[in-house]
Amino acid sequence: MSLSDSRLELVQGDITKVTADAIVNAANSALVGGGGVDGAIHRAAGRELLEECRTLGRCPTGEARITQGYKLPARHVIHTVGPVWQGGGRGEAGQLARCYQSVFALVEKHGLRTVAFPSISTGVYGYPLEKASRIALREIRAALERLPSVEKVTVVLFTPWDLEVYRRALAGEPEPEGGLGR
Ligand code: ADP
Repeated sequence: MSLSDSRLELVQGDITKVTADAIVNAANSALVGGGGVDGAIHRAAGRELLEECRTLGRCPTGEARITQGYKLPARHVIHTVGPVWQGGGRGEAGQLARCYQSVFALVEKHGLRTVAFPSISTGVYGYPLEKASRIALREIRAALERLPSVEKVTVVLFTPWDLEVYRRALAGEPEPEGGLGR
């Protein structure tokens, strides 16, 4: 697998401002909005997003659901529910990988060409950023290889620090012993 894929981009910013066929929401299983990126997406999209989410029922960890984007610049929102970090011994890595796989299954099904992800599970859900970054980039690269119709995947990191961690992971730098101190 090539180290850099021109269809994969890391940026720092606010995902609610991103124009794409879909942005991904790190949702909770009730799909009713919440804190972090979920709250920001619901605020920017408006009430209609919540109303559509209410028709969908619950979304189990690792699965994904698609809605319209309403007032967002993005056409769709793909809501996925990441695992809550519980120390790493409860299948969290597999569940996080499944989030990315579930999102790309919807991207394929709906013929979407551009998609933007936040760093799923690394906020309130507490997944260590280093570890999550490696799973995210591995799954995104695998999907890009499998889906030539996807033109661009952007990972939108909220802080310069998050961007730096992902940049190192993308460059293939080894995971530091004990993490980078956070
Ligand atoms: P989770 O519950 O899956 O951990 P959070 O929303 O708490 O979800 O955090 C996921 C990541 O999204 C964190 O790295 C957080 O800094 C980031 N984030 C928060 N707001 C935004 C935003 N507007 N755009 C992009 N990323 C965001």
